[in-house]
Amino acid sequence: MLQMNSSEHSEKSMLAVTLEVMHRAADRLGLDQSIRNVISKPQRILSVAVPVRMDDGRIEVFDGYRVQHSLARGPAKGGIRYHPEVTMDEVVALAMNMTWKCAVVDIPYGGAKGGVVVDPTQLSIGELERLTRRFTSEISIIIGPEKDIPAPDVNTNAQVMAWVMDTYSMQMGYSIPSVVTGKPIEIGGSLGRVDATGRGCVYTIVELAKKINLKLEGATVAVQGFGNVGSHAAVILQDIGCKVVAVSDVHGALYNEHGLDCRAIQAVAAKTGSILDYQGDAEEIPREQALEIPVDILVPAALGNQIHAGNAHRINAKIIAEGANGPTTNEADEILRSRGTIIIPDILANAGGVTVSYFEWVQGIQSLSWTEKQVAAELERRMVSSFNQVYERAQREDVDLRTAAYLIAIERVAQAIRLRGIFP
Ligand code: GLU
Repeated sequence: MLQMNSSEHSEKSMLAVTLEVMHRAADRLGLDQSIRNVISKPQRILSVAVPVRMDDGRIEVFDGYRVQHSLARGPAKGGIRYHPEVTMDEVVALAMNMTWKCAVVDIPYGGAKGGVVVDPTQLSIGELERLTRRFTSEISIIIGPEKDIPAPDVNTNAQVMAWVMDTYSMQMGYSIPSVVTGKPIEIGGSLGRVDATGRGCVYTIVELAKKINLKLEGATVAVQGFGNVGSHAAVILQDIGCKVVAVSDVHGALYNEHGLDCRAIQAVAAKTGSILDYQGDAEEIPREQALEIPVDILVPAALGNQIHAGNAHRINAKIIAEGANGPTTNEADEILRSRGTIIIPDILANAGGVTVSYFEWVQGIQSLSWTEKQVAAELERRMVSSFNQVYERAQREDVDLRTAAYLIAIERVAQAIRLRGIFP
């Protein structure tokens, strides 16, 4: 099995980890073998070669993938990531994750994911645009507003989505904004999409804190990853009174026992691309330490397999809210649970992004726009309700939140497959 985005300590690929959790939940549900056969495999895998003319005239060819795991509950949905360690196996795992995520928050989508094997920090803006446009053109045979709707993921953003939207529209001959979500507001994006994943993550933390009587005022937080998810989660947690003592990004980590000014760090990182350029009140610490500092709440919001058997013993958090997809290996999950750590699983904790993507898609189809307040209120309603369904299921069946989330998700997907039947 290929190893993806994994540190030297991770024992298994993200796909192996995802399948293991799925089978564990399926066993508990007593899921019949036929349905299990269907959900164990991605429905479609498209592998593409993406030739790009570089600024110096050379042509480089990048590998790209778009995987649709399931279309049982609706069109496929999921982001596109640009990362040098992307592999097809990883994209399959992430697409599968999207199926469960959309089912947990009960939005009418199946799961998909895309990825290009590239380090975007090494590309000029022109190269990035040409890469995005050619990749979009290559996958345009399977995407579409009623078929498969991409969105931002690791190292992609609203500008990249604008290029996806424009390329697809040019190919079809008219503007089709709903082919993609996470677009800039000016061309059909939704207010509140940019910070939706971080905000949704905070809503789940607030709900869990109520259940376990954790006072959030002054509660300590560490955030690993300061991008699309982590930076917003950090700012919102700070806004509700938490003390964010440590944050990290690819360049390093910052620490302040009295609490960092996350909004100021976010402003600097947005400009320079590195939190280490922040000149305010913070001490630089080794990057791994951001995960291991004793805190009430840890938000891993970087890549997969970051919490593994090699470092789980050193993690000291009451709550882990998985902002990233697949940040915890199953071995680490077991170690942490045995030590009393409560983990809000990725398919619930980071579902706020795809939930507001759904709102963006709905607004696009209806050609109307919601206010930021409407978006936040509807996001909160859905996240709180989904969290409580998962929490109650976990209590009732005496299982952890991850297993409970999978039980709910698999049940919903399985029921859709049963109702639709198998074609022909
Ligand atoms: N990439 C995000 C995720 O992993 C958002 C996907 C979407 O909005 O479609 O959930």
